[in-house]
Amino acid sequence: NAASPIGDATLAEFTAGLRGTAVLPGEAQYDQARSVWNGAHDRRPAVIARCAGVADVIRTIDFARSEGQPLAVRGGGHSIPGFSTLDGGIVLDLSPMTGVQVHPESRTVSAQAGCTWKDLDAETQQFGLAVTGGLVSSTGIAGFTTGGGIGWLMRKYGLACDNLVGADVVTADGQFVRASERENAELFWGLRGGGGNFGVVTSFEFQLHEIGATVLSGLVFYPAEEAQQVLAGYRAACASAPDELTTLVNLTTAPPVPFLPASVHGTPVIGVGGCWSGDLDAGEAATAPFRSLGTVIADVFAPHPYAGWQQALDPLYPRGIHNYFRSALLRTVDDDALRVLQDFFAVLPNPLTEIHLQHLGGAVGRVPASETAYALRDQEFIVNVIARTTDADGFGKVVDWARQVTAALGPDAGAYVNFTGESDPSLVRASYPPDTYRRLVELKNHYDPANLFRLNQNIVPSVS
Ligand code: FAD
Repeated sequence: NAASPIGDATLAEFTAGLRGTAVLPGEAQYDQARSVWNGAHDRRPAVIARCAGVADVIRTIDFARSEGQPLAVRGGGHSIPGFSTLDGGIVLDLSPMTGVQVHPESRTVSAQAGCTWKDLDAETQQFGLAVTGGLVSSTGIAGFTTGGGIGWLMRKYGLACDNLVGADVVTADGQFVRASERENAELFWGLRGGGGNFGVVTSFEFQLHEIGATVLSGLVFYPAEEAQQVLAGYRAACASAPDELTTLVNLTTAPPVPFLPASVHGTPVIGVGGCWSGDLDAGEAATAPFRSLGTVIADVFAPHPYAGWQQALDPLYPRGIHNYFRSALLRTVDDDALRVLQDFFAVLPNPLTEIHLQHLGGAVGRVPASETAYALRDQEFIVNVIARTTDADGFGKVVDWARQVTAALGPDAGAYVNFTGESDPSLVRASYPPDTYRRLVELKNHYDPANLFRLNQNIVPSVS
């Protein structure tokens, strides 16, 4: 998608008017400024506009539109398909915009769109409050929330997007609008699961919840040979799990961490992770079924500071290596699905590849399907296949393997836009029920008929 070159004088006039900074090819910070989390996307933008505020966002959108340049919008830069960078064209980078204001009396927070979950958690936890955030704290709140937002608090409090009460948005024509239940309600609906298709959010307002400072969280590890028993037991335990408990299974390879015996390092193991956000004593009983699914290699469940647990997995997902994710949303995990997971676990292509099975349901499942653009509410489980290599060597092979896993789960599985590692119209369609998809196209026709915002899981307008 290389753009036609932008004239030097035109570019100079644009950058001179920014309150933030512009980074151009050849400048000292260019390589750092153009890099994104997923090292598979090594792109060279014509300019990276590091926005200092709403005025810069409007200026950058207007510039891209009037110059006919492709535009990539970047919040936390964690897009797996690399949507927040491009060759040629303009990166609208929100990462300098990290202001956060907690309103303890109304239990809400306003956060600028460049915040990561680490930024947001640090401020909300000061007041013992939190909202569903990502499992890795460097993830941006922007892409995460507009795509849905699956995290450790979701079964109790819903997805991140379910807790959005308002957003400030700049639309494709450079207008600044407020979206909430009362203002631009249809836009507000689309921002909660429809991704970055309808505008650039400059600020998010979330409802917060009192969770205190400490949660009961951790991981328990079982031998790979017990996969059949552990997976079946996990499914059974999920059926009676209270909403305060969110869990996942990770079919993985034991990392060389001190709490695992050296004898298992580098060998396949099953990790069952969880977070209990209720009364700590009751948490022991609630987590017990998940901590006795087989022969326990190690159990590191313990009370943790919530913000600490939100960062605990960060070292396992380093920036800069090659990544591809592929998801399948499932109504239930029947025996056939469990067998698929087990079979592909038996042939993990390398120690960096993993299969996650995560339990949704609870508050996520109780939101009516018409309420938000994230609408596959009756799908109680999500499989996320994580395919990684340290560099380009062998990457194609692990990508193929990941595609095979979801293909084997069957054509009826849904997809989740935030865990879809490529741009494929059939996967966008699979992310929404047909009536939701039609409604998204109508919204796109209204707000972005020329498809300025197309580096995303794209809703293609039917008018132009
Ligand atoms: P970016 O790359 O900045 O943007 C992603 C997309 O959002 C792009 O299309 C971009 O144009 C659009 N966008 C960015 N900012 C804005 C904005 N302000 N307004 C409108 N559109 C915007 N997802 C989960 O649900 N749960 C998890 O636990 C989870 N864990 C993850 C862990 C890791 C290590 C990674 C890499 C991803 C994880 N994800 C998770 C997926 C994550 O939600 C998506 O990658 C998400 O898009 C990242 O948002 P971002 O702002 O960091 O990304």
